[in-house]
Amino acid sequence: KSLLKRSINKMKSDSLANVDWAGNTYEWSKDVKKTLNDVFRIDSFRPKQLSAINSTLAGQHAIIVMPTGAGKSLCYQLPALVKPGLTIVISPLISLMEDQVRSLKNRNIQAMLMTSTSPKDETLKALNVLKDKNTKIKLLYVTPERLAKSKRFMSNLQKCYAEGRLQRIAIDEVHCCSQWGHDFRPDYRYLGILSNMFPKTPILGLTATATSHVLTDVQKILNIPGCLVIKSTFNRPNLYYKILEKPTSQEECLTILEKLLKNRYKRESGIIYTNSIKDSEELAQGLRKRGLSVGCYHANMEAESRSNVHLKWHEKSYQAIVATVAFGMGIDKPDVRFVIHHTISKSMENYYQESGRAGRDGKRAECLTLYRMQDVFKISTMVFSAVGSIDHLYGIVKYCLNGTLCRRQLIAQHFDEDWGDTDCNKMCDVCSYPNSNIREISLESHCKILSGIIDNAHTQDTKVTAQKLLDAWYLKGPVPLRHKGKEPNFSRSIGEDVIAFLLVEGYLIEDFHFTAYSTIAYIKKGPNMEAINDDNFTLKMPLRKYTEFHLDRPAPKDDSVIGNDITETRKRKASSEVNGRKSKIIVIDE
Ligand code: ADP
Ligand code: MG
Ligand code: ZN
Repeated sequence: KSLLKRSINKMKSDSLANVDWAGNTYEWSKDVKKTLNDVFRIDSFRPKQLSAINSTLAGQHAIIVMPTGAGKSLCYQLPALVKPGLTIVISPLISLMEDQVRSLKNRNIQAMLMTSTSPKDETLKALNVLKDKNTKIKLLYVTPERLAKSKRFMSNLQKCYAEGRLQRIAIDEVHCCSQWGHDFRPDYRYLGILSNMFPKTPILGLTATATSHVLTDVQKILNIPGCLVIKSTFNRPNLYYKILEKPTSQEECLTILEKLLKNRYKRESGIIYTNSIKDSEELAQGLRKRGLSVGCYHANMEAESRSNVHLKWHEKSYQAIVATVAFGMGIDKPDVRFVIHHTISKSMENYYQESGRAGRDGKRAECLTLYRMQDVFKISTMVFSAVGSIDHLYGIVKYCLNGTLCRRQLIAQHFDEDWGDTDCNKMCDVCSYPNSNIREISLESHCKILSGIIDNAHTQDTKVTAQKLLDAWYLKGPVPLRHKGKEPNFSRSIGEDVIAFLLVEGYLIEDFHFTAYSTIAYIKKGPNMEAINDDNFTLKMPLRKYTEFHLDRPAPKDDSVIGNDITETRKRKASSEVNGRKSKIIVIDE
């Protein structure tokens, strides 16, 4: 039965997807264009914005998936002005809503905000808007807990609907419904009642999370299965992606960062992300000692000093900000030329968001990640208690271990985007050094040795960390843990890759233990390790190389890359799409 349901939903969304939503012949098309130009003072739509607007104006439930910064807000702000009635906007963050209401008011658009911390008179005003037939307010922003917990709000909203004035419900950051997403908010679960309570009001969900797993879950939670999903591309053609080998000591890391900032990114702006407050402070201090001007940014700082740091970076008195992921919201600096990850992100999703802050102006920018195996455990011990977090982390580890596929292809795969034969244009480390003969190493015998080491440790009542396991494998460390065979005939750095590979492929698993001060990840045999005794067991790992990279030379400038290799058609398309826009953003394909 559920199979039938699923295929009906699929047919439903397929037939909806076949409609040409980007047309200009709808009854509202003239108004849409006029509002865009006169009210928003924008010349042309970005990819998929018009489709989103037409579909929701046609009364369809829809989910819009676009990368951050692509312009999702316009997809509900503009329709709100084209038709009579009230648009409710649900958003998880008060600061984001405040920003939007402020900028709408600047355009003379009547908008209001209602949160659990709003003063009483504001709340009363907002509640009245729902009841008032003559209200001028077009958009009312509310937090999800308002809907979930305020009976008064809901009863007024019902009145609004009964009088035919509830035009649309927009749910921003709609992935927050799903615990498979990276940002689950329990209050978003209550939004499921809306489609039943207000069957004639279209729901418009918006997100930058594109995995079909999450999207299906969101449709289910909102009770709009099989609804239209409109998705724009996640490819960022102007970003160069690269993995660098991360040294073991912080001093050596600082040396790499110093070289990059002093030479490769001389006089350019960027962000250095790390995973802990301590690291962000240490790195910032270390770089300052080496004569660089950098700021530090994390959640433990006062709001005032945070915005101070942000400002100094904005006006270029800081070259870089060394930050935890707390640095994210409201970064609208177009000329960020580099985003360096000193420690890997906790998921592909996060990596895409964080690295995506580079090159918003469409010019070449670089996204570097310093990777080493040990950081996998740094992150896993931090995040493991959240549902799905280890899978998310392994997604980014696979991306780092990859040495054979275009990095863009992996990113596209992650976002369930059809990469096809789109060209990366040598804008990742794999494509810029194509390796015609990929070497593989056979892991069958190594699996047996590693499995033996773990078993042997178990008989001695000890557990091994990845580091201990590596030691024993390379015949180092405590003698009783070592195996009887020979040490591997490849470097320890490859050995680290093998362990990480076996983890992400399920041959090894992490086993978390608490001590009074920290969490330790021990390594156990994973479910796939059972296969090693089968006669026909084979397991190969493609060998990757850290490709050449000049820390000391200036990064290639925009023209030298986008200009040279790009094919004529792509160039034309890119330039026709940027016509009339102030800042150049190259969108190659939808
Ligand atoms: P998202 O929610 O997708 O992250 P926003 O809605 O916050 O993105 O929009 C990001 C920026 O892009 C805003 O400054 C917005 O004014 C601008 N923008 C949106 N659509 C267009 C457009 N068609 N042309 C030019 N700028 C646009
Ligand atoms: Mg947004
Ligand atoms: Zn590539």
